[in-house]
Amino acid sequence: MSEQLSFVSPTANSPWGTYLSQVDRVVPYLGPLARWVETLKRPKRALIVDVPIEMDDGTIAHFEGYRVQHNMSRGPGKGGVRFHPDVTLEEVMALSAWMTIKTAAVNLPYGGAKGGIRVDPKKLSLQELEKVTRRYTSEIGIIIGPHTDIPAPDVNTNAQIMAWMMDTYSMNVGGTATGVVTGKPLHLGGSLGRVKATGRGVFVTGREAARRLGMDLRGARIAVQGFGNVGSVAAELFAEAGAKIVAVQDHTGTIVNSNGLDLAKLVPISRTDGVIGFKAGGDIVPNEDFWNTPCDILIPAALEGQLTAERAQKTTAKLVLEGANGPTVPQADDILAERGVLVVPDVICNAGGVTVSYFEWVQDFSSFFWDEDEINVRLDRIMMNALNHIWDTADKHKITLRTATYAVACERILMARQERGLYP
Ligand code: GLU
Repeated sequence: MSEQLSFVSPTANSPWGTYLSQVDRVVPYLGPLARWVETLKRPKRALIVDVPIEMDDGTIAHFEGYRVQHNMSRGPGKGGVRFHPDVTLEEVMALSAWMTIKTAAVNLPYGGAKGGIRVDPKKLSLQELEKVTRRYTSEIGIIIGPHTDIPAPDVNTNAQIMAWMMDTYSMNVGGTATGVVTGKPLHLGGSLGRVKATGRGVFVTGREAARRLGMDLRGARIAVQGFGNVGSVAAELFAEAGAKIVAVQDHTGTIVNSNGLDLAKLVPISRTDGVIGFKAGGDIVPNEDFWNTPCDILIPAALEGQLTAERAQKTTAKLVLEGANGPTVPQADDILAERGVLVVPDVICNAGGVTVSYFEWVQDFSSFFWDEDEINVRLDRIMMNALNHIWDTADKHKITLRTATYAVACERILMARQERGLYP
């Protein structure tokens, strides 16, 4: 007998609703561990904080911040912090839950957590951004720490923000605690390879999926939604392997070129003007046209809920690589499966970021730093081992890669839960 959560009202396609339906689908494959499944449907702990700052013009502004620790059965909480005007508690809950599944899927010794502030960082000065970051870090300081919960970058946060978080936490505890966040600048305990790790992981899993589908990456047409740290890096790696990036969408609009966009020019322009700044290199089209651009591989690398049922019907892609967290709604998942489109799910596809975050955390504790080759070789090995194991599970039960990833991950999480037992 379990009561419903009172603080969230998920709908079928909302992030938490999507996550709950993904968990429901794995229950038949959990055997006796299914008795523990309710533990995955409620976060262990959720903190809502007020973040007041004095703005440059002397007014006082308040922002709402969150840190949700979804599950810590396998280790400390781990997951990024997002600054975005649409952040809600429900979204952060779902993102924290996906971290629980992700860290277990690649077998890192972590649970899952996530944080966020409902704020548009583009409207803040650098000084205001620093104040928001520091006050938020102080407020969540009561539940984060190198052995309890380790934040990292996510949408609209970066190494500078991690440096402020590390400094604020360190000032509060009275000592330099580099291991409290990952994704830090290199000379502050950051790791080589971290910035590109998520995009690299998308490439590694995508290359293997293409090989298994018999799809040649040379000449393969790729459409990328979201051109930040994940989408642009994945696009560059696929282009290096001979693929053509035929469509890119970001918050400014959509640019297409069936002969392939010139990334050496597009990437730097996109950093300042967005992708539509590269008008000279392609055609600007309405955003909805992105979804029916002829392509072989589709990489949603922006926000949740983008791949809707309607868009899943339209896409010509044979392979979807989820660079974003939660980009595909459950109904779209079913449509893609019926249409024979292979989806490499977020919880394995974009796990490269948290994997190198783990390397960073280990290096911080040992104060011994690895070279970039070592990072990339280890990243490749962890991602490939995880993907192969998931693929075998999918073949064995004749289920999608998503449900197979949940089967592998949930077994690890719930086994840990069972072995630890309930306290008291
Ligand atoms: N924000 C990234 C993710 O969604 C990375 C998290 C981390 O490195 O802890 O996986």
